[in-house]
Amino acid sequence: MSGNADIYHEMIVEYSRHPSNYGKIENPDISYHDSNPLCGDSIDIFMKVQDNKVTDIKFQGRGCAICMSCTSVLTELVKGKAIDDVKKIQKDEILGELGLQNLQAVRIKCALLSLKVLKYGLYTYLAGKLKDANADALKAEASALY
Ligand SMILES: [Zn+2]
Repeated sequence: MSGNADIYHEMIVEYSRHPSNYGKIENPDISYHDSNPLCGDSIDIFMKVQDNKVTDIKFQGRGCAICMSCTSVLTELVKGKAIDDVKKIQKDEILGELGLQNLQAVRIKCALLSLKVLKYGLYTYLAGKLKDANADALKAEASALY
């Protein structure tokens, strides 16, 4: 078990030094911002959508190692996926990827900020552009994340 913990710790350090998909997309189809004032994490997510697929995703912002690594994992997961599949991404997928399932409550906001930004961004997009009847469920889910 300690072996795994070491690997996860290294992944988190590595992602926080070299975040995946870091940057800005000009004229994104979806962009959303939120912050976690408790820790100082602040994230903008940008997405390009084509044929109901997320063709590109980037993020900008600053945050602690947990925030930056979870956001990196999330963007890797989302890139190239159909919107219907992105909608289904659950918090355990992100936490599990970095061995953070038993994270203290106070750090959960760091880990899930980007998922919240993603779900709110998708909700705003689906509700506004596509009049998706299920968009409200997505908003409720985003609000309930933490
Ligand atoms: Zn944080």
